[in-house]
Amino acid sequence: MYVFAWVLPGLAFPCAHCIVCMSYEILCYYAITAQLFALQVIRITNISSNATSSLFRVTTRTGEEREYDIIIVAHPFIDGQNMEQFVGFGEDFRSLSRPYHRTLAHIIKGVPNHSHFGYASVSDMPRNIFPIGKNDFYNGLSLLRPVDGSDPSDVYKVFANHKLTEEELSTLFSSREEVHVVDWLAYPEYNTQMVYPSFKIAEKVYYVNPIELAASAMETAAVSGTNVAYLALHEWMGHDHLIDNMFVIEEKHIKIEL
Ligand SMILES: Cc1cc2nc3c(=O)[nH]c(=O)nc-3n(C[C@H](O)[C@H](O)[C@H](O)COP(=O)(O)OP(=O)(O)OC[C@H]3O[C@@H](n4cnc5c(N)ncnc54)[C@H](O)[C@@H]3O)c2cc1C
Repeated sequence: MYVFAWVLPGLAFPCAHCIVCMSYEILCYYAITAQLFALQVIRITNISSNATSSLFRVTTRTGEEREYDIIIVAHPFIDGQNMEQFVGFGEDFRSLSRPYHRTLAHIIKGVPNHSHFGYASVSDMPRNIFPIGKNDFYNGLSLLRPVDGSDPSDVYKVFANHKLTEEELSTLFSSREEVHVVDWLAYPEYNTQMVYPSFKIAEKVYYVNPIELAASAMETAAVSGTNVAYLALHEWMGHDHLIDNMFVIEEKHIKIEL
């Protein structure tokens, strides 16, 4: 969770155009000068918050306490997961939690069993295989490319909804050198009647992750994070006319409100 402190000077702006430029510059300034504390937040206390002023106390697992003007929650609220406590808000936001889908990523260094997939040799196999049978015990098998960009060799990723058994692994691989398993609550359980929480969950408290209920991806997370940062900034500055407005700063070729 990222917590930003915004202490903005009371500036007077001569025109709408300048307001946008200044807003962007202030956002950049605070992004550059922001400090990241890699600490687990266990409690957020609303000390005093209303439409015109706000103050929140953030408490971490190690017992540190800091005060902030704005809170941005940048992780999903997940059913059954321990989340930070919200004190003094009238509600603890548990209603925003959603069930998430469990996916286990198996990273395997080995040789796939090409005959199981119907190929004459490993080199004939495609890089990605996605089974669509009802009884398939895995969701996909992909040959991974090393992070240095070199050619893929013999490390594969297999996604499944459970930890693969020895028998299942032996079905997919004729030999294995290493197997690493990461257990994730990967994305929301999607259905046709999703209810989307707001990006603003209380006065001066924002939530980045409702976007995941529409599409769970790094790109959507980045767009949502940017928009929430602009929303918080515009509300803080009192620039209501800039909220939900597509606005292009032409000479800088910068589009805000994605
Ligand atoms: C197995 C898997 C495969 C995926 N594949 C893809 C893909 O191929 N392409 C793609 O675009 N997306 C993919 N995604 C989705 C993508 O990873 C997510 O959409 C994205 O990471 C969401 O970003 P986020 O910053 O909103 O949340 P997260 O990445 O979940 O970050 C939230 C952070 O908040 C921290 N946190 C939580 N609670 C607290 C607290 N109380 N105090 C402090 N910190 C806290 C967490 O530790 C975490 O670091 C995949 C996800 C999974 C699990």
